[in-house]
Amino acid sequence: MVNLIAAGEVIERPASVVKELVENSIDAGATEVMVAAEDGGRKLLSITDNGSGMDAEDLAAAFESHATSKIKEVADLQNIATLGFRGEALASIAAIARVRAVSRMRDSDQAHCIEIDCGDGSPVSPCSGDFGTTIQVRDLFYRTPARRKFLRTANTELGHISEQFARIALPQIHLDLTLIHNGKELHRLPRTESLQQRVSQLFPMLISGPGDLIETASDEKGIRIRTLLGRPHISRTSNQFQYTFLNGRFIRDKFISHAIKEAYRGLLDANRFPVVFLFMEMPCSDYDVNVHPTKVEVRFYNANLVHSQVLGVLREQLLGTDLNAVAQLPTQELAQAGDDSASQQVRRQQIADAMAEFFKKHRSAHQQQFDLRPESGSEPRGPEHKRTVSDKPRPAPSPQLEDNKYIQIHDSYIVEQTDEGFVIIDQHALHERMLYETLQRRLQRDSLESQRLLLPESFEVTDAQAGAIEAHTDLLTQLGVELTPFGPRVYAVQTFPTLLANVEPVEFVRDLIDMLVERGDTVARQDLFNDILSMAACKAAIKAGQRLSDSEIRELLADRKRFESTTRCPHGRPTTIAFSISELEKQFKRT
Ligand code: ADP
Ligand code: MG
Repeated sequence: MVNLIAAGEVIERPASVVKELVENSIDAGATEVMVAAEDGGRKLLSITDNGSGMDAEDLAAAFESHATSKIKEVADLQNIATLGFRGEALASIAAIARVRAVSRMRDSDQAHCIEIDCGDGSPVSPCSGDFGTTIQVRDLFYRTPARRKFLRTANTELGHISEQFARIALPQIHLDLTLIHNGKELHRLPRTESLQQRVSQLFPMLISGPGDLIETASDEKGIRIRTLLGRPHISRTSNQFQYTFLNGRFIRDKFISHAIKEAYRGLLDANRFPVVFLFMEMPCSDYDVNVHPTKVEVRFYNANLVHSQVLGVLREQLLGTDLNAVAQLPTQELAQAGDDSASQQVRRQQIADAMAEFFKKHRSAHQQQFDLRPESGSEPRGPEHKRTVSDKPRPAPSPQLEDNKYIQIHDSYIVEQTDEGFVIIDQHALHERMLYETLQRRLQRDSLESQRLLLPESFEVTDAQAGAIEAHTDLLTQLGVELTPFGPRVYAVQTFPTLLANVEPVEFVRDLIDMLVERGDTVARQDLFNDILSMAACKAAIKAGQRLSDSEIRELLADRKRFESTTRCPHGRPTTIAFSISELEKQFKRT
């Protein structure tokens, strides 16, 4: 009974057997492990390793419940460096299936085997066999139909096995691993020195080119972190490609997940999830692994430190990396536009148009001895130039314009020459990003600076909205928004943040209150602030379609230097798309 109950906790499906048995192989020092399954593991699971092996006595003992060779004294429980330690896996598995184990130690010329059928064991007997251990598990749950009923189709179970296999293979890069299903080899992972390589062995479809995963390493405050961070363009629609490991063991942890999400804030659309492989090492005494039956959750004694270290390492790396979307030129775009949403198509068309415009201008400018080099700044712009930009006259260029390396097109984009080629900047997105960062910084230090409206502006609210206003007065104060009751279900805006001077106070406050009503009590305060600031930045930013003077453009571009990262707007869309000269030259068949 005890074993059956334990089996219920540890062994849920074939994949759990794979996990327990392969972990045992690793604990036994194996360098090669082969997993073979039939019928999604429901019929057979066979795990073979070249580890230390067991002698006859240990082989019999291994299937006793609470038999483990990994804990010798109570103190060992505080310092668990092996994957297993409870001594219940083999006993549990043998209680619910037909098991045959063959094992031979390195220094022995004899292998031994044992067979156990749902708890009924035969005595150990000599047999033939290689160094190491093979354990075969047949007909899982065949005597517990209630449990067997919960098994899914062979394909589904195989999916779980593959997932388990990946969770073991990712951190164990020095291990040769093979996965076979119904006689077919699904994975053959030779040992490697590189995490990147192990990832591409396992998930070739995840990566489209070199550099898609940014590698980082840090070792601080007793926490060693190595990560492979997916660039935003390989993000996914779920978090299934977020793997975190602690001392070689796959774990799920809400502090770490949160830190990952925070690190990518503003770099991804809200419904996208980054690809992240995170390998953490820390002393076993800094966490408790004995809190979950399958050890997939742990308890950190200092979870805040873990959170801040992970966030710090990831954020620093992401902000320090040039994440500019690299533009694919239009001809290549069309070939792969298959699964694009309409909005992306539109955007691409805009970019293509923008480019066409740019080249037209570039050529005509060239004919008029107008080029984009800085020295030519004093050259007056010809009429041809004006016409290609727009039919409306532009503001005159300021006389000491030392620099003509940019130009506004369609009143929405700025094309700027760079060392490598040129970039196209979405003026709204860039400005929005910078406003967002500024608001964040100010708010971190203090409340937002506000000014009193000369005439308070009143607006009507519902009861729910009135409730939200009362419940969040401190939040409103921090934002620099003071609202006072002005009659039944009427409030007036008294003060408003200076940074949002060009935003309609009532319009902003209405949206703000909607947010408070919808999410005010359900999300963490920081998340709420982030959303509010991103809305504020969007409203206050230069709009698409807004004509900018040269000095305004210059100011906008110069402002970028004050920020660590401006390549994405707060909603995660790119602000800047880079085009390289070498790519252009290829397109024009110059190379
Ligand atoms: P635990 O791994 O928690 O110790 P298990 O029930 O998984 O408990 O295994 C019991 C014991 O059997 C292990 O402690 C180990 O000594 C031995 N054992 C299991 N699998 C192997 C293997 N593949 N090679 C060598 N020894 C093994
Ligand atoms: Mg074990």
